[in-house]
Amino acid sequence: SLTGTDLHLSFGKNHVLRGVDIAVDAGTTTTVIGPSGSGKSTLLRVLNRLHEPDKGDIALDGRSVLRDNPDELRRRIGMVFQHFNLFPHKTVAQNIALGPRKLRGLSKDEAHEVALRQLDVVGLRAKADVRPGNLSGGQQQRVAIARALAMSPQVMFFDEATSALDPELVKGVLALMADLSAEGMTMVVVTHEMGYARNVSDHVLFMDHGAVVETGPPEQLFTDASSERLRNFLSQVL
Ligand code: ATP
Ligand code: MG
Repeated sequence: SLTGTDLHLSFGKNHVLRGVDIAVDAGTTTTVIGPSGSGKSTLLRVLNRLHEPDKGDIALDGRSVLRDNPDELRRRIGMVFQHFNLFPHKTVAQNIALGPRKLRGLSKDEAHEVALRQLDVVGLRAKADVRPGNLSGGQQQRVAIARALAMSPQVMFFDEATSALDPELVKGVLALMADLSAEGMTMVVVTHEMGYARNVSDHVLFMDHGAVVETGPPEQLFTDASSERLRNFLSQVL
């Protein structure tokens, strides 16, 4: 499980996270929704300590991680962003094998095996030896997901993983994310895809102005929102 407790962060005078609590049980998926600028990406970046919180605590399996080396935490959290940042001159398999070789200390052959296995998971084994530029955006994003999975993370973070994709490619990536979720991966998903939030997640967190305004199971938030702000937000995005 991953928990963030009373997380605060300011950029100068901009108080971006104002006491955020999040608790993600092992094997569950939490989606984070909310208007642009509400602090969703910042929350993910604080949870993996790309930004250190000004206040609050972060714990993995009940143990605070704030005193550990942040690299240790980032190794245990897989990140998938809007832009996949694959190395263009390396093959798909080499892109995936890089982390396991450098950070998990696997041999070249072992890392290649891991890469092929993860390519199976995302349905792209046949593309192992091509360069990313020869793949569609959706395929490249699935490679980026395989790259994150190859580190055997305890938790996966997705930040608008489908936002940069052409509409016809979104479905395939969302289906893969739904599969991972169904197989019991622990996930935190920031998304504008309300269908995904509603149908796939166990828990939804609605953020506005750096605070969690409402949280609960999707049925509750999507059909019986208690706050005016969430009702307004949903009326704009649904
Ligand atoms: P979107 O849906 O547009 O991605 P978001 O909910 O992810 O929005 P954040 O990117 O977390 O929002 O931004 C929250 C606030 O923090 C914004 O006011 C933004 O300008 C500010 N912010 C984010 N990152 C930085 C940074 N590195 N330096 C200064 N301010 C930042
Ligand atoms: Mg964002």
